[in-house]
Amino acid sequence: MDCIFCKIIAGELPSKKVYEDEKILAFHDIAPAAPLHIIVVPKIHVESLNGVDAGNIDYVSEICLKIPGIARELKIADGYRVVTNIGDDGGQTVKHLHFHILGGRKLGFMG
Ligand code: 5GP
Ligand code: ZN
Repeated sequence: MDCIFCKIIAGELPSKKVYEDEKILAFHDIAPAAPLHIIVVPKIHVESLNGVDAGNIDYVSEICLKIPGIARELKIADGYRVVTNIGDDGGQTVKHLHFHILGGRKLGFMG
C-alpha cells in the first residue's frame, strides 16, 4: 500500500521518533505548524476517524492514553492542542489516521 505513514511505521522512511510502543508511534511533523508539532499514528492502517470500529479502537484508546505523557515529556502539558483531520474537506492530506499534537506557543482558536 502506498501510504507514507505505513512506510514510516515499517521503518522504510525515516522519522524523528518521540514515542513508540506495540500499538502506536509518535514522531515530529516534517513541516511543523507550531514550535512543537508531533504526529501520533496507530500501527495499523486506518484511513481516518471514520474508519474506527470495534476491531481497531484499542489503537485509538492507546493514542488517547499516551498523548498526555508525550506532552509532559515535551514540556507542553500545561497547554497544547490535539487535532485529527478527516477527509479532503477536513484538510486530511495523509489518509492514515493520525493525531497532531501542537504546542510550544499560545494557540489561537483556529491556529
Ligand atoms: P494532515 O494534513 O493529513 O492532517 O496531516 C499530515 C501531516 O503529515 C502534515 O502536517 C505533514 O506535514 C505531515 N507529513 C507528511 N509527510 C510526512 C513525512 O514524510 N514525514 C513526517 N514526519 N511528516 C509528514
Ligand atoms: Zn497507512
